[in-house]
Amino acid sequence: RASLNKGDSWLTYDLRNLLPGETVDQDALDELETQLLLSDVGVDATAQVMGRLQTLYDGGRLRTSKDLGKSLREHLGNILAPCEEPLEIPDDTRPYVILMVGVNGVGKTTTIGKLAKKLQDAKLSVMLAAGDTFRAAAVEQLQGWGDRNNVPVVSQGSGADSASVAYDAYSRAKARDIDVLIVDTAGRLHTQNHLMDELKKIKRVLGKQDETTPHEVMLVVDATTGGNALQQAAAFNEAVGLTGITVTKLDGSASGGIVFAICQKLGIPLRFIGVGEKTEDLGVFEAEHFLDALFK
Ligand code: GDP
Repeated sequence: RASLNKGDSWLTYDLRNLLPGETVDQDALDELETQLLLSDVGVDATAQVMGRLQTLYDGGRLRTSKDLGKSLREHLGNILAPCEEPLEIPDDTRPYVILMVGVNGVGKTTTIGKLAKKLQDAKLSVMLAAGDTFRAAAVEQLQGWGDRNNVPVVSQGSGADSASVAYDAYSRAKARDIDVLIVDTAGRLHTQNHLMDELKKIKRVLGKQDETTPHEVMLVVDATTGGNALQQAAAFNEAVGLTGITVTKLDGSASGGIVFAICQKLGIPLRFIGVGEKTEDLGVFEAEHFLDALFK
């Protein structure tokens, strides 16, 4: 079971607040629909859940608030089920390469640090590649984190070619028999096209080292940005083909609804959730545990 470190109190939102008093009527269902939309669950996922609930209601099978809560949880759970697929690092793939993508400010660097720590705790050796060469501070931030935690960081300074950093890092990780190489990337370039082109190039160049790399292309999105997170996921997925998503800042003001929207729309595995700023605040995504936190 994921260690979320804060019991189930990390998510400040409580979906039970959306449920009506004792008995359910059509107004209560309509109000629930509005609240799901306001909670970032998204138009399509909300329509899917409300469609099922309406059928139950019309069939006389949703009479009390308790029935409604139970069915809401069940149908929200059905949306998440296809996305519950934790990251597995096979023993015979070394280095296993994780390409981290996402726009600036979402918590990408923090997530890389947390993930590196989690992997080390699982007795895997880790190397980082400072592929965000566009922002000088990004290279320093990663280097600083690596120094403090005894994780080697490959960098070529700011302004270097990020694909060349990734290529070089792969060679070094291979030579040192490192288990997992995590490649950081830029979160902003002159234009979005430019950014996506750079990411495609990094992917291509890594593939020249070993055609199975990168093994994971993981997007980091910030739950507090609501619908923007969904748009980012769709755009990155189209450009570089995502294999995993981490949703950060679920401990903040976010309702967590965006997790349903992303899963329903894209069906990409939700690997981890960020539930705080500290290194240990990264949980493996588990649908049941996530629902427990929402219906606490
Ligand atoms: P980057 O630009 O994507 O690399 O973002 P950073 O890793 O520098 O993070 C931006 C800010 O978000 C920092 O202040 C982090 O401490 C904060 N942050 C990252 N992840 C989380 C999280 O899960 N919860 C909270 N509350 N803050 C986070």
